[in-house]
Order: sequence, then C-alpha cells, then structure tokens
Amino acid sequence: MPAVTESIAAAAEVTGCLTKMAIVPGQGGEPARYTLRAGEQRLDLNERLGKPLSLAWSGAIACTHCGRATKKSFAQGYCYPCFKRLAQCDTCIVKPETCHFFEGTCREPEWAERHCFQPHIVYLANASGLKVGITRGTQVPTRWLDQGAVQALPVLVVDTRQQSGFVEVLFKEEVSDRTNWRAMLKGETAALDLPAERDRLLARLEAGLANLRERFGADAIRVLDETPVALDYPVLEYPTKVVSHNLDKSPEVSGTLLGLKGQYLILDSGVINLRKYTGYEVKVVA
Ligand SMILES: [Zn+2]
Repeated sequence: MPAVTESIAAAAEVTGCLTKMAIVPGQGGEPARYTLRAGEQRLDLNERLGKPLSLAWSGAIACTHCGRATKKSFAQGYCYPCFKRLAQCDTCIVKPETCHFFEGTCREPEWAERHCFQPHIVYLANASGLKVGITRGTQVPTRWLDQGAVQALPVLVVDTRQQSGFVEVLFKEEVSDRTNWRAMLKGETAALDLPAERDRLLARLEAGLANLRERFGADAIRVLDETPVALDYPVLEYPTKVVSHNLDKSPEVSGTLLGLKGQYLILDSGVINLRKYTGYEVKVVA
C-alpha cells in the first residue's frame, strides 16, 4: 500500500520546549527557510505549507536560560529569578541609552563585554512601514527576518550598544521604532526607497549625530554605504483579518499552515507568535 506508507512517512511530530524559529534567507530567489525548534527536535516548516498543523501546550514552561520549571514566563521565556538577575533581561537591553555599566551596576559585566561592547548596526527596515532599529552586527539578517521585514538597510555602525541607543533615540524624532504586526501579517507593505529615506534622515539628524561624535569620538559613529536587502517569506495566503491564538487561554491550536512571516505561523484558523511562547513545552504534529 504505497499511498499509506507515504502518508505515514510525511507526517511528523516533535515534542519539547519551544525556542524561536530558526530563519535563514532563501537561496536563489527562494523565500526564507523556517525551522521550528522544540527541545532538541526540529521540524522543517516550509515543506508543511498548505498542510494541517497542530500545536498543543502541555501546561509546562521551562526557563530558556536555566531550564527550571516556571509557572509563568517572564520576558518571553525566563523564570522570575533569571528575569531579575540576568543582564539580558535588564531594561537597558530594550533601552540601550540607559546602559549603566559605567556606574558599576551592570548585572553581568562579563556578559556585557561580550554582547554590549561590540559593534552595533543602526538600520532602517520596512516591515509595516518605515522603522529604525538596532542590532549587534552579528545578528544581521536574523533580526530582520524575526521582525518580518521585507526590506532593510544598514545605515550606521557604532562601537557599543549604548551608542546605538543614543543614535536610535535621535532617529525616533523622525521615524518609528515599532512594527505594526497586524499590518506586517497582512502583507500589504508598500515598497520604500530606503537609500532615499536614509539620505533624508541623515541630513535632518546631522547636528544630533555631530553631538554624539563629539561625545564618543569622531570614529565611534560611522555612516555605512550599503545596498538595501530584500527579504521574502513563504506565504501561500495572507490573512485579511488578523486573529491571534493565545496558548495561555486555549492550549490547543490547529489549522492549515498558510504561511510563515517574522516569528509567526499563519494558519487558516489564526496567527501565532511562537517567540512569545519560548520555553512552553509543546507537541507539534504536522
Ligand atoms: Zn531561569
């Protein structure tokens, strides 16, 4: 019975605690490639497009850092002690301009040396319209794919995370730092001329950038001359109305997988942001 054998071979089941999906740019005009990660198990999602997929949360959550069981997830995947103790969970990670390393109060100075005192990129991206963002140099293009950006352009490179925060604060006078995730998931993003936006913004922010260079050194904040990156996602059909699943309220989700964008699964029954459920122990059948 070849047909039966085939359907058994094609079915897949993975169980474990979720970490964010691995997304890599597609090769040769192909859309991005998505891998779901549950514990040590992996599931290629691109080949599941157009097919049924179900996801069930057991009720357990394990801290993504220390592995201990936690009733509630803090900062997308941490237990409360880790959330209070780790530098990566401190508010200065979200608002790098509030870095307090030099006051001697960094939660983990050695971690900061490795993560914050590294070159950071200030970029413009288009996920649901123009936005500014920052990321460590090594996180490009992962960061953009995680956000569901369809275009991105590195604009400046700076020496530290704190400096990237100051530059971002400056850019926020002119442009948002947020993505409208509903608009991003509807796939209605109009293409932007990012190099033109960059040139316009750099001209407007010239005085502010000069102030920062005075403070941190002439070489600390450098303008890049890069070409924009286009990013494409595996989506069969975008939702016209975005309804989101919430595992905390309803632990079982199922539907036909219609697409993957950012850290979202787009199902015909609604969308789900898997990153939000980092550490949740799930069983995924596809
Ligand atoms: Zn923990």
